Amino acid sequence: MEPAEMNENKDMKSMTLAELREALQPLGVPRYRADQMYRWMHVQLAESPEQMSNLPRAFRQQMEDMGEYVTLRTVDRQISRMDGTQKFLFALPDDNLVESVFMRYRFGNSVCVSSQVGCRMGCRFCASTLNGWERNLLASEMLEQVYAIMRATGERVSHLVIMGTGEPMDNYDNVVRFIRLLSSPEGQNLSQRNITVSTCGIVPGIRRLAEEGLQITLALSLHATTDEKRRKIMPIAEQYSIEELMKAAAYYFDRTGRQVTFEYSLIRDVNDTDTDAAGLAALARPIRAHVNLIPVNPVAERSFVQPSAEAAQRFKAKLEKSGISVTIRRELGRDIDGACGQLRRRHLDREPFGKTI
Ligand code: SAH
Repeated sequence: MEPAEMNENKDMKSMTLAELREALQPLGVPRYRADQMYRWMHVQLAESPEQMSNLPRAFRQQMEDMGEYVTLRTVDRQISRMDGTQKFLFALPDDNLVESVFMRYRFGNSVCVSSQVGCRMGCRFCASTLNGWERNLLASEMLEQVYAIMRATGERVSHLVIMGTGEPMDNYDNVVRFIRLLSSPEGQNLSQRNITVSTCGIVPGIRRLAEEGLQITLALSLHATTDEKRRKIMPIAEQYSIEELMKAAAYYFDRTGRQVTFEYSLIRDVNDTDTDAAGLAALARPIRAHVNLIPVNPVAERSFVQPSAEAAQRFKAKLEKSGISVTIRRELGRDIDGACGQLRRRHLDREPFGKTI
């Protein structure tokens, strides 16, 4: 693994247990201190070294001096009256804002995290990219989104989707580090099978991820079945053709044995015809991909419209008839700035960039 990206100070929460042991060595403390500290950070979810009550005071002070202990400040929290979905807006140590979502499902609680501050992929229908890209998130800053939500709700989190603001493959090392830390047996031990990484389709990233030995799910944001149409809504399609994408997805399936998901935002009069459905089935069938249909979330600055519920059902039925496994994503938290990146945007509109309430 690449070494953790450090700030000037050592970012302790981004370190693996082995790295933490090494970092503590010069302090001359017993070896088990690293294990205790890892447990405080990743299992007991301490908000500061001060809370680590079974560690000697002098050692806690050394830790405060040695490195940065990343935590997030909750700036806004909205709870849906419709379905209990909760949206969180967090301030990072440098006051940048990120958004995360807590969702309850029958199979367990799921958290959706952001991987970057802003995004530079420029997908036309997406609110997260409208203000551009500011910076990558550290592994600790992604972990803290999950931990802060666990602290705030007092609930267990069993599922993770990296589908918030940002393109995970554009912050590859930190994202993979984050996944390893969250699924580490000495930490939260979250099952990798319950982790999904969503990408707009950066081919070298997909191929690299296939080699990591992880058991996570890859979700590919497809949204169109021809290069021509895809280029109109996703600038990344200028760089990678659908053919290259399909080869990379097949490679991922082959190497990991994990069924790939195609995400497909249904947009009225853009990609919701019978021809589109037939094209999508033809792409999904060879690699037995699962298709997740997402009626597009209207974004104020864009004019994209959802197909009617009946049209979406027809599109789904057409795929099913072709033998494709398909779901329509249930919309959660519609009453609380539910759509991607909208809570953050509302705050950015109100306050100068970076400043928080
Ligand atoms: N950058 C990654 C992950 C973030 S977006 C990616 O592109 O996959 C997570 C998913 O939400 C992607 O499939 C994205 O295309 C989709 N999405 C973004 N804005 C949307 C909107 N307004 N309506 C529906 N889906 C949207």
